[in-house]
Amino acid sequence: MGTYFEWVADLDATEADAPELGRRVVDTLVARGVLLREMSPDAALGGVGHLPGPAWADTIAGSGSGSDSGLGTVSGETPWGMSVTVGREVYDGGQGGVEAVTCPRCSVRRSFFGPPEEFGPTCSDEHGLRWFYDAAATWRDGGAADLECRACGVAAPVAEWSADDAALACLGLTFWGWDELRPEAIGWIAEATGGHRIVRGSGKV
Ligand SMILES: [Zn+2]
Repeated sequence: MGTYFEWVADLDATEADAPELGRRVVDTLVARGVLLREMSPDAALGGVGHLPGPAWADTIAGSGSGSDSGLGTVSGETPWGMSVTVGREVYDGGQGGVEAVTCPRCSVRRSFFGPPEEFGPTCSDEHGLRWFYDAAATWRDGGAADLECRACGVAAPVAEWSADDAALACLGLTFWGWDELRPEAIGWIAEATGGHRIVRGSGKV
């Protein structure tokens, strides 16, 4: 089966301001009734998180904001809850499968998956994936790692590259057992951070 989650990452949070920004996001979501202030080990896998509040369904696609809001139009059961991660972390689908990365200097995108004619029988660029994840792991562990772009030849810090369905960030929110968040919910989070760049993705562990 596995456990599904939605992750949301703040690309502009620094290690220094992430704890305060995380508190502001929680305050906002608690004020909207999406989360409870209460922390519980039942809310997150391998840690503690905030339990869902009475208005949790307002955050997910298909729930709408009209008269039927929160009245069982959602596809899933009540989710587990949300945990906040502060500090350098790599967010992706949970299986190490970032789709592609884009050079911050020349904007050329490097895909890691594609047709067998181009990517061989596995349909994936294993070397490229290692190239990215090795640098991401070094960054997560507090080091500095550059990725050299094969298009323009310039080496740029791995955290400056943009990734498809993945992010390197100092503030992350994991919504455990949650369906895909509506753009409005991402907007609430962005507003709570003062307009930071917020990205999201889905995962399974
Ligand atoms: Zn480049």
